[in-house]
Amino acid sequence: MRHELTRKKRGQRKCKKCGNNKGLIRKYNLYLCRRCFREEAALIGFKKYS
Ligand SMILES: [Zn+2]
Repeated sequence: MRHELTRKKRGQRKCKKCGNNKGLIRKYNLYLCRRCFREEAALIGFKKYS
């Protein structure tokens, strides 16, 4: 399941969660805006994004 999400399209520039493209974080193939990243980060086990 995880692999399907990350390997979909390379041109994706939107948050896969809310569709926002501001402050998008493509690191770690997350494709999340900063807001959602913080939510996800907590789930994945990341500390705060600074
Ligand atoms: Zn988002």
